[in-house]
Amino acid sequence: MQLGSLPFSPAGAGYRIAYHLHEANHCPGCGRSHWLVGRLTAECAYCATALPIRTGQTTGTGLFRSQGRPAFVPLAA
Ligand SMILES: [Zn+2]
Repeated sequence: MQLGSLPFSPAGAGYRIAYHLHEANHCPGCGRSHWLVGRLTAECAYCATALPIRTGQTTGTGLFRSQGRPAFVPLAA
């Protein structure tokens, strides 16, 4: 059996530390809570530990988002 043929299982990946927007975040490296927040990562201002920002959204090229209405409305023509 090849390892590359197995599907990815997030449940089996274990605990992942991430920065959560609009919440109190403590650095896993030093325990302080002052962050330099960027677009994709947040970096601890004291020890420079970088964490990915967990927004609950998917990012990437070609992503379509709808906000309460269908993303694609059929044309009236
Ligand atoms: Zn730190």
